[in-house]
Amino acid sequence: MSFSGEIKAELCGAEIKKPCCLGAECYGAWLFSRCFTLRESAWVTECAPAARRAMELCAAGAGVSAQLYYAVSRRQKPAYRVTLPDPSERARLLEAFGHSGYETNLRINRAPLEEDCCVQAFLRGAFLTCGTATDPRKAYHLEYAVPHKNLAGDLYTLLGEIPAFRAAPAVVQRKGGYAVYLKESGQIENLLTYLGAPQAAMELMQVKMFKEAKNNINRKTNFETANMDKTFSASARQTAAIAAINDTVGLDTLPPHLGDLARLRLQYPDMTLRELGERLHISRSGVNHRLQRLLELGERILEEKGVENIL
Ligand SMILES: [Zn+2]
Repeated sequence: MSFSGEIKAELCGAEIKKPCCLGAECYGAWLFSRCFTLRESAWVTECAPAARRAMELCAAGAGVSAQLYYAVSRRQKPAYRVTLPDPSERARLLEAFGHSGYETNLRINRAPLEEDCCVQAFLRGAFLTCGTATDPRKAYHLEYAVPHKNLAGDLYTLLGEIPAFRAAPAVVQRKGGYAVYLKESGQIENLLTYLGAPQAAMELMQVKMFKEAKNNINRKTNFETANMDKTFSASARQTAAIAAINDTVGLDTLPPHLGDLARLRLQYPDMTLRELGERLHISRSGVNHRLQRLLELGERILEEKGVENIL
């Protein structure tokens, strides 16, 4: 099942405790469908529980009976067509929520949404009809696909007013409508919990934690690899300088504190400065300082021999 399907199935299990919320969820589910009009129309969903709930809400919340048909979705998947074939039933549904069907602009009527509980139910109903969420393993994206511009604007405002948390959605025009969407994982999590899908919110949180842990490991590995490269190239220069000293004047001509380090470096080209220091009981910066001296000596010898630079 898709992540959207999981969310919707979970939302359809949410119990409606108050009669006021029954109407509000019905209003949300039908206002955002393409059936909230006097014209005959239908909306198609792949989610069987959502189609069933929309029908039940319609009967219980507005006393109107909808029809359900089998259909095929745009993605060629089994789907359900929800419709109100009877014109008087269509008018009754509109009237139940203060609409006439003759408005030039469809807007959200706030009258049935006075209580906070009803806003919650309304947004849940709307999500069942026009909501989708991308699999969090791919991206963080939750959206309401809204057929009309002003309706999208009203939904945008309403989402930003949720008392439990203030969502910060964005609106974009799409082919055939508008999308009101959230892209921030924390906000999506909050909204899912608020709507009544805490399991889906938990799943999203777990995916996010897993992704973050994986990123941390990658970042650490990259950091260590980069450091290792630096160690190797620095070591190659030092080794070349020490080899130049060894091949010309010999390491025995060096003062003992430099000679010991030179021999150790030749023997262990991949040791870090810290490790070299530990062997010689001197600090990392002490090692660094002595290696610089060896580099200078070696480079001077090579220069005299006409080799310009080491590596
Ligand atoms: Zn309510």
